[in-house]
Amino acid sequence: MKIKIVSLVLVAILAGGAIGFYVGRESITDSSIGQTPSPTPTPSVSATPTPLQLLCFDPATDLLRSSDAVSGCLNGEKSLGATALSVPLVPVNQLDPFLEARFLAAQSAAKKEGVRLEITSGFRSLARQTYLFKAAVKKYGSEEAASHWVLPPTASHHPMGLAIDVNYPNDSTSTLWLQKNGFTYGLCRAYVNEWWHFEGLSAPGQPCPPMILDASSIYVE
Ligand SMILES: [Zn+2]
Repeated sequence: MKIKIVSLVLVAILAGGAIGFYVGRESITDSSIGQTPSPTPTPSVSATPTPLQLLCFDPATDLLRSSDAVSGCLNGEKSLGATALSVPLVPVNQLDPFLEARFLAAQSAAKKEGVRLEITSGFRSLARQTYLFKAAVKKYGSEEAASHWVLPPTASHHPMGLAIDVNYPNDSTSTLWLQKNGFTYGLCRAYVNEWWHFEGLSAPGQPCPPMILDASSIYVE
């Protein structure tokens, strides 16, 4: 009799455990019904993301200061942008405002060191770029040969507002200052064969990408 009671208790315990286990499984399943599985948590989800650093330049005071992409710049200040500058999605009719701010900040810093920097060609209309390209084709004999120096309007970054020629054609010495210090402002010399051509190829303060040989490598027929 004693054995029978023990057996019954054992069966009850086992059954209870099984039911508990079953209920446990059910409760997990129920809570998941109709919900999208949670993504695997990553450390960055709980950490507060650091906003991108942003430089702001005030042309009235020549003051360059650090801010961030969340706080932005103050009224009267020009933002240098927090990233490399990218091709605009719609046609533009002026220099990219970030590129202009980058140049103004660099020009101001260079002036304090006695170095003169001037934009001798910035934004170009498609008509102007077409004229320049045709003239280059005439000079160099073919479109391919011309593209080492002047790109057609659809490929050139000047009509996109993303390129500036500095101190062209006379003062390559002063422009060396920009080649050396331009990265601080996000200005990079783009081509080995054009000491005067600069673009916003990096975020301000980040190293510039290596120069490419000449413009022909981005020329698409
Ligand atoms: Zn250029």
